[in-house]
Amino acid sequence: MPTYTAPLDDIRFVLFDLLKADQLAELPGFADATQDVVEAVLEEAGKFAANELQPINHPGDEEGCHYENGTVTTPKGFKEAYAKFIEGGWPGLPCDPEFGGQGLPKVINFAVEEMICSANLSFGMYPGLSNGAYNALALHGTPEQKATYLPKLVSGTWSGTMCLTEPHCGTDLGLIKTKAEPDQDGSYKITGTKIFISAGEHDLTDNIIHLVLARLPDAPAGIRGISLFVCPKFIPNTSGEAGPRNAARCGSIEHKMGIKASATCVMNFDGATAWLVGQPNKGMSAMFTMMNAARLAVGMQGLGIAEAAYQGAVAYAKDRLQMRSLSGAKFPEKAADPIIVHPDVRRMLLTMRALTEGCRALSYWVGMELDISHHHPDEKRRQEADDLVALLTPIVKSFLTDHGFNAANLGVQVFGGHGYIREWGMEQLIRDARITQIYEGTNGIQGLDLVGRKLSLGMGRLLRRFFHPAGAYFEAAAEKPEVAEFALPSMKAFAKLQQATAWLAQAGLKNPEEAGAAATDYLRLFALVALAYMWCRMAEIALEKKSGDKAQFYETKLACARFFMTRLLPESNTLFTTLTSGSQTLMALPAEAF
Ligand SMILES: Cc1cc2nc3c(=O)[nH]c(=O)nc-3n(C[C@H](O)[C@H](O)[C@H](O)COP(=O)(O)OP(=O)(O)OC[C@H]3O[C@@H](n4cnc5c(N)ncnc54)[C@H](O)[C@@H]3O)c2cc1C
Repeated sequence: MPTYTAPLDDIRFVLFDLLKADQLAELPGFADATQDVVEAVLEEAGKFAANELQPINHPGDEEGCHYENGTVTTPKGFKEAYAKFIEGGWPGLPCDPEFGGQGLPKVINFAVEEMICSANLSFGMYPGLSNGAYNALALHGTPEQKATYLPKLVSGTWSGTMCLTEPHCGTDLGLIKTKAEPDQDGSYKITGTKIFISAGEHDLTDNIIHLVLARLPDAPAGIRGISLFVCPKFIPNTSGEAGPRNAARCGSIEHKMGIKASATCVMNFDGATAWLVGQPNKGMSAMFTMMNAARLAVGMQGLGIAEAAYQGAVAYAKDRLQMRSLSGAKFPEKAADPIIVHPDVRRMLLTMRALTEGCRALSYWVGMELDISHHHPDEKRRQEADDLVALLTPIVKSFLTDHGFNAANLGVQVFGGHGYIREWGMEQLIRDARITQIYEGTNGIQGLDLVGRKLSLGMGRLLRRFFHPAGAYFEAAAEKPEVAEFALPSMKAFAKLQQATAWLAQAGLKNPEEAGAAATDYLRLFALVALAYMWCRMAEIALEKKSGDKAQFYETKLACARFFMTRLLPESNTLFTTLTSGSQTLMALPAEAF
């Protein structure tokens, strides 16, 4: 069974050496986020993940959730772990102190989410959904709604859900049928069925706050006719506690491939009492607040799984003895050499590691910019940060979850046949990771979001927020003899991305199917260049610091940077070729020919 140790050295390196996160404490509202405080929080989170969450991960997968007469019970140990989770104040870490939160930067919460998801993705689903509900209500709720729900969500005694999907629609939410009829007292009655609702029913909290998309009677058809409602399982009474039972009930739970300890519920709303959140028919924009935050959080799930898979694979590769090294026995006293001596095993381990560390740098950078977009005193800087977050959100969601799944797959391969056997815990990572590529907008839809919306926004303004600093950095770095070995391949890949962007602008304008056909490859190409930007900067820091007291750490960084540049980044050439090959080969066949 793989064990988990939070990668605190690397998290610290990314936060403080690369991103200078100590400067966050200078932003208004973040005075408490000093390096000492942040480091202490991360250490505690690492202990909690390793000691409380990881031990119940595999048993939770084996046992799964239980459904009986509308009641859902989580696997053994989950309730106790959740009680400790809220006792530790973890749900309120990034939340507003006005509602009882700790007001720490979101990037710190990203790191905590990564650790939770490495240790136990199923567990992470419950607070993850609550955080989404918190964000939507904090931004769009009335003062009364905020006062009623936010302190409970922050304390973790109540949890949240996102009720979007219906049996006939997931991606295309314009097809939603769930209805909301106005009542005389200003509330609404919700009627309809939602499926696949994570944390829709469970035994961890006193109340569950559903955020539901539904249609008002006079709503226009399609996406412009959807409104957002808050619909609690127990209607809060006058003292703000859970009161009468509402008509929102769980009809069943899904039996699924992975995250088995996370309850995935069919939710039936039979005239359930609810209140409008935000403006009528503007539910999608309110929901997007929640979805954007949730997309980044799902990216962190991918990263968490990748780290867990890597740790499991490394431990096994050092232990498992098979065959001799091709260059002669490395451990002649043993019956065979550990498999870590073999080039192909190293290829797998280094692929996992170089991408995981690159993804950590990229996603934490986005997390920092998210904090800057909310807290920086200069409006221009806030806008720049907001643009960058919007541009990179589909990349973080999609690339990190693809990597999480691929890393879990490589992890199983490193284990050989034992990876395929349940008791080793590696195959669970593949099954758990798989959903992250699907929910919160499938990864295909993330590609469309990038090429269809983000590239053209503000006449390419979002794109320039990345292209300008990255281009300027690569050029300057290429002039520095020691950094050039990292900067030159990065510049080549960046040039491919620029060419691909120009091609897409022209071809997509003539025929939108060209953009659709190129989207997934374009997103991946963009992600690799963004990772090259991160790796180049990390290598430069490592070169500066390698003669200090943590020489081994920085030498390892440089080795991973070299591996990334020589063995992973060249995929950008293939991606460029495939994406510019056009839509013809994809669209030639009529549907009947398939
Ligand atoms: C375990 C689990 C938990 C979930 N949790 C929640 C939750 O908490 N709340 C919630 O509301 N939902 C939840 N979902 C639902 C999830 O968000 C949807 O499954 C997802 O959005 C995809 O929708 P769909 O399944 O209807 O697939 P479809 O929309 O039918 O898509 C099928 C395929 O077609 C592709 N496709 C569709 N349209 C296009 C297009 N225009 N261009 C290109 N490709 C396209 C998709 O990418 C996909 O590959 C969950 C699902 C699961 C399995």
